[in-house]
Amino acid sequence: RTAVLLFTRDLRVHDNPTLAAACRLADRVVPLYVDDPGRASNPNQRRFMLESLDDLRVSLRAAGGDLVVRRGATAAQVAAVGEATGADLVVCASDAGRFAAGLRERLADVAELRVAPGPAVVEPGRLLPSGGGDHYRVFTPYWRAWSQARWRGVEPEPERLRTPNLPDSDELPPADATATHLPPGGERAALARLDAWAPGSDDYPDRHDDLAGDRTSRLSPYLALGCLSARELAADPRLPEALVRQLCWRDFHLQVLAAFPSLTDVPYRRGARDDWESDPAALEAWRRGETGVGIVDAGMRQLLAEGWMHNRARLITAGYLVKTLGLDWRAGAAWFARHLVDLDEANNWGNWQWTAGTGNDTRPNRGFNHERQAARFDPDGAYRRRWAPS
Ligand code: FAD
Repeated sequence: RTAVLLFTRDLRVHDNPTLAAACRLADRVVPLYVDDPGRASNPNQRRFMLESLDDLRVSLRAAGGDLVVRRGATAAQVAAVGEATGADLVVCASDAGRFAAGLRERLADVAELRVAPGPAVVEPGRLLPSGGGDHYRVFTPYWRAWSQARWRGVEPEPERLRTPNLPDSDELPPADATATHLPPGGERAALARLDAWAPGSDDYPDRHDDLAGDRTSRLSPYLALGCLSARELAADPRLPEALVRQLCWRDFHLQVLAAFPSLTDVPYRRGARDDWESDPAALEAWRRGETGVGIVDAGMRQLLAEGWMHNRARLITAGYLVKTLGLDWRAGAAWFARHLVDLDEANNWGNWQWTAGTGNDTRPNRGFNHERQAARFDPDGAYRRRWAPS
């Protein structure tokens, strides 16, 4: 039997449940990636994705296989590649969000579909609150349940891939990245970054909020496209519990998005405020890092330069937009989505809604003071001087 192995946000060969399932279910596999214009991305993440595909192709070739890359609507490409190779089965990873749900429906129309575990450490829907409901709405009880549930064996890497004669790939257009300092894409770059960062990570609990110290892992672009296995990371004994807790936040937002796919445009919390100001000039100044508030401008300029921003700066810049200027979180999230190399639907919109008080924050009306934030997390102004020198 021949199966199309559809890569989506799992661009790796280590601990890849989709790859392992395809090899188990079929004698021959057709590794395929479809560059689907319907999938939300941006030029920075696209550059990273193209590098990740090159890296994946090298790994698949080393295992005796290859990677077919196509451009277009995913289901139509799967059907065409299936027909060319005699595949009657398609295996892909689960994922949350409207695009992923629609994709699964369309794939099931063109072939027998098997769905393997996706980007989460613990699959959305596996943990349910004892009081009822189809997902956890509050983080702390989720963290308690998740901590007990997170351990699971790691999938073996296939020793040898057996493929039929593979059809040609499409040439993908290059990405016009807007950021000037992007990290290198790919699984090998991800593992190298992890190995460089993990040994010194014991100061993460104390320093992850230190803006100038820049002591977080910067693994987010790799996790967003699955160049790294979040499950393997959550079980890595070199990493502090505080980092594992952040991976739990990632799963938390994923299970929220799985249950509430309109997280990108509808307030999650019933009765939440939805009457935002309109001030195009203020929005544009925020986007460009020209508000005149040093800590906000520094974060926004880091985003433009690196396609990435420190988590504390994301909280400060987002808090300033919605709580100080009173502008709509959707406009802020859209700007982040245009630039973030680690763009992730659940994390971006989940965190924006959290910050705006329309999401899962148990204290949605908490105040926000950028001066206090700057004094606490950039006490000597080094982050502001680095990104927004006056
Ligand atoms: P580390 O501190 O080293 O954490 C390790 C990993 O844990 C991260 O790579 C990420 O996968 C996960 N993680 C960390 N913090 C969070 C969090 N608050 N919520 C969910 N997962 C988390 N993260 C994205 O991956 N993509 C986004 O599009 C995104 N948009 C955001 C928008 C706003 C307004 C805010 C406040 C946060 C957003 N985050 C997003 C979460 C967080 O800022 C980034 O994951 C983090 O800054 C990435 O840096 P790191 O890999 O060095 O993090």
